[in-house]
Amino acid sequence: MTPRGGSRSLRSGTVFLLLMAFMGFADLAAAQSPTPTPSLSATPQRSRGHGEPTRFDILRGAYGPYRANNDLLFYHLDIRIDPEKKFISGKNTIRFKMLKDDTRIQLDLIDTLNIDKILLGTVPLKYERDTGAVFVNFPETLHAGRVYSIDFYYSGSPVQTGRFGGFTFGHDKEGHPWIYTACEGIGASIWWPNKDQWRDEVESMQISVAIPNDLVDVSNGKFMSKTDLGDGYTRWDWLVHYPINNYDVSVNIGNYQHFSDKLGDLPLDFYALPEDLDKAKKQFAQAKGMIEAYQHYFGEYPFKKDGYKLIQVPYSGMEHQSAVTYGNKFANGYLERDWTGVGISPRFDFIIIHESGHEWFGNSITAADSSDMWIHEGWTTYLESLYVEYMYGHEDALKYLNGYKSKVKNQEPIITARGVNGEPPQDQYFKGTLFINTLRSIVNDDRRWWKLLHDFYQHFKYQNIMTEDVVAYFNQQTGMNLTPVFNQYLRHTAIPALELKFDSDHKTVSYRWKVDEADFKMPVRVGKKDSWQIIQATTDWQTMPTSLSKDEFEVATDLYFVDVVKE
Ligand SMILES: [Zn+2]
Repeated sequence: MTPRGGSRSLRSGTVFLLLMAFMGFADLAAAQSPTPTPSLSATPQRSRGHGEPTRFDILRGAYGPYRANNDLLFYHLDIRIDPEKKFISGKNTIRFKMLKDDTRIQLDLIDTLNIDKILLGTVPLKYERDTGAVFVNFPETLHAGRVYSIDFYYSGSPVQTGRFGGFTFGHDKEGHPWIYTACEGIGASIWWPNKDQWRDEVESMQISVAIPNDLVDVSNGKFMSKTDLGDGYTRWDWLVHYPINNYDVSVNIGNYQHFSDKLGDLPLDFYALPEDLDKAKKQFAQAKGMIEAYQHYFGEYPFKKDGYKLIQVPYSGMEHQSAVTYGNKFANGYLERDWTGVGISPRFDFIIIHESGHEWFGNSITAADSSDMWIHEGWTTYLESLYVEYMYGHEDALKYLNGYKSKVKNQEPIITARGVNGEPPQDQYFKGTLFINTLRSIVNDDRRWWKLLHDFYQHFKYQNIMTEDVVAYFNQQTGMNLTPVFNQYLRHTAIPALELKFDSDHKTVSYRWKVDEADFKMPVRVGKKDSWQIIQATTDWQTMPTSLSKDEFEVATDLYFVDVVKE
């Protein structure tokens, strides 16, 4: 997902002021966007905010007993989308293995969509709806170890909702339908029935989308075929060969033009509107260097059989697996801004670099609960800096990373409560990446660092993990106890502060960490740049000699994300 705050560039701000003189705000919104402004209140039962979680959030966020009793194997989402009636209908075939004997499972579908029927073979199943959850009851016990398949038929008009629209029936400037999905956060069950959580993924998936003959659907996975249904509709069939997050599953339907390329034997497929085709051909060329950079650090592109796709959409962009969506105005930076404000962001297209980075962190390695989403966003933001390092060197990467400092708020911890459909604060991006850069300085050996990064990704690829897995891996590989360091940055509000007390008479400095974690220890470089000295600071005062005065004595705060308090 993109961090908030990229929109409203200086240029559009100027346009905003100019247009304000001529039209009302509603007109302005219509003029800026080819599609209606998303409604933010379509699902009032959903909070995702602060305070007590709602029943909806608990049912959605918890890995309850009727989710934990089964393991997803396969979905076949087979739907028809009518752009005129703004109507969707069809079924999801859900194949799963029971992990224990039981008579009930939990699926999810927003309560504004109809359940037409749920079948086990030809037997209709009873079900109960509870906010967004659908509890499906079986007439006989399902047995542990056996595989079952049900057909979940549904229909209705999905409501546009959430930050990127959720499910949007829109139009391009020429008036052609432009229909797209982007539902991370709000959840995939706003438009199709599934087991809507992060811990369990299907191992593969088929996506079949029937749409009017003159339109193109681009979904996830490998394009298999299109079939003229003889009634003015054509069905597009896509096959996902890998595990996939529910929220990554997408349709992108429009008057798309297609062009393609290859990186070695990896197929690259690009989709843009005809009027933007030339701009897309120029801008999307950045995809190759991006994939090369990430392959250099982490290994092969994770979804090779599905290929890599980049698809134009009207919102900023989203990491839809193997079908990354793009709405960054065919310009470098983030929505025409220098995103980290230090002159480096304008060298590349933020959306291509960031959203595609999620193929490694977010799509291949996935957090098992949205509480630990820094595993997606902190890491992918760090990947941006790796791209800069690969292309322009370490110094520019450090400059780019440290540009993120001004966006860090330190108002609440990055990791939020589990099991309640939580949404971590934006610090998960900026503080998350500055923390990972701090880890590199702690390891203090780039050859080991590159191997650690590569091996970490390879160890956990295609898995759903929690922060504890990350910490255990780094502890084991480095032989250090990094748990208090991870905890301080991820589970507390404040970053470590290095307290320094100078004694000019005796030419000494005393130092210690001021932190929340009792056993916190972290080396840090101090003294003078170009001749840094590493001190092993703890939470206890230690004293060392120094010839430097209080003003001369520096701390390498571009290598370690820490505060410094001098007395
Ligand atoms: Zn992201």
